[in-house]
Amino acid sequence: MSQARKALNKNAKRGANGNNGGATRSSQARASVKTYRNYIGGEWVASAGQETFENKNPANTRDIVGRFPLSTEEDVARAVDAAAEASRGWRLTPAPRRAEILFRLGEILIRRKEQYAQEMTREMGKVLKETGGDVQEAIDCTYFTAGEGRRLHGYTSPAEMPDKFAMCVRQPVGLCGLIAPWNFPMAIPSWKLIPALVCGNTVVLKPAEDTPLSSLNLVEACEEAGVPKGVVNLVTGFGEAGAAITNHKDVRLISFTGSTETGRIVASACADRNAICSLEMGGKNVIIVHEDAEVDLAVEGAVWGAFGTSGQRCTASSRLVVHKKVYKQFTKKLVERARELRIGDGSDPQTEMGPVINADAVHKIMGYIEVGQREDHAKLQCGGNRLTTGEYAHGYFIEPTVFTDVAPDMRIAQEEIFGPVTAVIPFDTLDEAIEIANGVRYGLSASVYTKDVNLAFHAMNELYTGIVYINSPTIGAEVHLPFGGTKATGNGHREAGTQVLDIFSEWKSVYVDYSSKLQRAQIDSVEPQ
Ligand code: ADP
Repeated sequence: MSQARKALNKNAKRGANGNNGGATRSSQARASVKTYRNYIGGEWVASAGQETFENKNPANTRDIVGRFPLSTEEDVARAVDAAAEASRGWRLTPAPRRAEILFRLGEILIRRKEQYAQEMTREMGKVLKETGGDVQEAIDCTYFTAGEGRRLHGYTSPAEMPDKFAMCVRQPVGLCGLIAPWNFPMAIPSWKLIPALVCGNTVVLKPAEDTPLSSLNLVEACEEAGVPKGVVNLVTGFGEAGAAITNHKDVRLISFTGSTETGRIVASACADRNAICSLEMGGKNVIIVHEDAEVDLAVEGAVWGAFGTSGQRCTASSRLVVHKKVYKQFTKKLVERARELRIGDGSDPQTEMGPVINADAVHKIMGYIEVGQREDHAKLQCGGNRLTTGEYAHGYFIEPTVFTDVAPDMRIAQEEIFGPVTAVIPFDTLDEAIEIANGVRYGLSASVYTKDVNLAFHAMNELYTGIVYINSPTIGAEVHLPFGGTKATGNGHREAGTQVLDIFSEWKSVYVDYSSKLQRAQIDSVEPQ
């Protein structure tokens, strides 16, 4: 089956999940649904094939957020051509001038924060407070990274020879393909887009099929801020469009965030044509609650870490490794708190946990809940159900779910579930907890609750992850620190911080010999004077 057909089937399957808003809505509602366009070479254009797909509200699939171009290889080729054409002009624009435009972008994002947050909640479900945080992260990233327009530091170095100068400077990579997931629909594209632009690259951005609107908002704001035509291009669509970007010979770098499975496909496509590839993928993050921890604080952190964004964060606290001395107390309080969480439409300010993203996610998460129930010893303490009646009838709602007495090697303690499901695992000694924490294929985020500074530093040192938190949960990264993970989480790159500049620029070593003679490094000896 072609990628395009698969994409259409995936969309159809979503609609057919017993809540088939798409098939039953009136022609009146159909007419009021807005059709959006791709942004290519500074123009808003339909896909070459004129086909579109629907973006549905996961809290109520009868609510169609909009129709978006179902882009194909042809659309991607046009976007790449536009980005290639704009490349030289943008590269030659001084970095501080590029940054001025980005600061203007930051101002626009601030002005529209509330509107963007509401639209994001509507297209992907997380509660308004969190979508406000998502937009804020894009704002923070914009301001922090635009500041690099006046730094983008290289360095000078002594040379081996007299009358010779040596230095390293950054140069843009060229044309970048940015492929984004749906769980941070503005923050993650901004993490990629802003550093790419400040470094002098042009881009083709493909947002996830579930959240095209938030990326479109970001790109529209770029246009308004004065980013020149062709520098930023947006193509919406499914895996077919992503693969077309990944495989395009003129795209020098792919920055991908998404599932481990797709990341592997992206990596091998990049390897085939020697493209640079930065991957950010899964996690199976852990909170360790030591015997001296403040239990109430740890419970509060676990609830936020496990059920924020309905557990759909690559940094979600999906394993809670708890000292046996506080295990009973911790699990009792955790289960009480999980049962009390108000589930509903994220646009209602009272809601604490929204829906999951789509029917595929429901299927996968419910499958893991079944696996957990089948696994020996693990006890389902609360949740475990999909909610399908009343206000939940047309959405993808799953109860916050807690398994206790989980063994570290069980599937629910090893595999990324990406939903509101967490596994509580007991331990005796901190070193045992650290072994459990490190005993998964991923290495994104880990956290330790303890009042003992010695234990905290010991754990920080031993945990093999890209991020460690002490006395707060596994989520909550800030944009000025590097973000990324070890092992199967990534391929060694870090986004955010100034480290992201090493993805979007390449080093150029420059030697200036002003001796007016041939001086051969490693060969000619220079006597001390
Ligand atoms: P998820 O399973 O969470 O939806 P994916 O890894 O499938 O995560 O998707 C992340 C992003 O990768 C999305 O924008 C998606 O459209 C895109 N994508 C999916 N398949 C491919 C592919 N074969 N090549 C490139 N991008 C892809």
